[in-house]
Amino acid sequence: MYPIDLSGKKGIVFGVANDRSIAWAIASVLAKAGVQLAFTYQNDRLKERVDRLAGTLDGAITLPCDASDDQQIIDVFQHTAEAFGEISFLVHSIAFANRDDLEGSFSDTGREGFRLALEISAFSLLPLVKHAAPLMKNGGSVIAMTFQASQRVYPGYNVMGTAKAALEHEVRQLAYEFGEQNIRVNAISAGPLDTLAARGIHGFLDMKKIHAEKAPLQRNITADEVAKTALFLCSDLSSGITGSVIPVDAGYHIMAV
Ligand code: NAD
Repeated sequence: MYPIDLSGKKGIVFGVANDRSIAWAIASVLAKAGVQLAFTYQNDRLKERVDRLAGTLDGAITLPCDASDDQQIIDVFQHTAEAFGEISFLVHSIAFANRDDLEGSFSDTGREGFRLALEISAFSLLPLVKHAAPLMKNGGSVIAMTFQASQRVYPGYNVMGTAKAALEHEVRQLAYEFGEQNIRVNAISAGPLDTLAARGIHGFLDMKKIHAEKAPLQRNITADEVAKTALFLCSDLSSGITGSVIPVDAGYHIMAV
């Protein structure tokens, strides 16, 4: 339990697949601070697991939402409005690329693989924020998850790096667009964490090891450290921060050689 009280607030979390998901770490910390949460699950295969996790939190609800389906996005916010009335927080923690596009030559990325990665991992933030904004009647905080491959070359990350660059740009555009409604939009750039999505990245374990060797803190981060930063971004302590990408990477991003 951290000394931030968000009781009475409500939020929606996209991207829980299992208990290793970054979205779950964030949700757990927000719930401990008193936030009532709606969770989405991508498909029926994940429903049971997300239901089980959500069932451990007071007042949590779960809703289906494949980010490639406009109607499901509309429905999710309609149901959230009916259940919660208003929300203050939105966590976007979803990404996808075909496995083939996360190894080999970047220039081999096909049109469809490129479209898919960008649509799910970057474009999806736009409709989510657009539909969440009317429910954020007293302002709000949106958090997206990114990775340093948006700025640097991580062999293997390929088209996902392009998607993260797009996502980070969207964070700035959306922060501008929704600033007048006091909706803040930020991203957390996390160091490598062992999750389902990360396991799909070619060479992920080596990358994680190198991060731990080179980072000023000389270790990898934990999902809880990402979650604590998310809690800060949801709280009034960060009221002046929007449009930012905050690295939670044990300092790895400052290193050259
Ligand atoms: P994860 O596999 O637990 O989460 C990825 C989520 O994306 C899953 O819940 C999956 O259901 C969801 N998703 C994929 N396609 C979707 C679709 N069409 N519609 C709806 N949801 C869909 O892995 P994670 O590492 O927790 O990833 C969460 C976010 O964190 C991603 O944006 C990822 O790029 C980012 N990130 C991860 C790391 C890391 O090392 N794990 C580092 C930095 C950033």
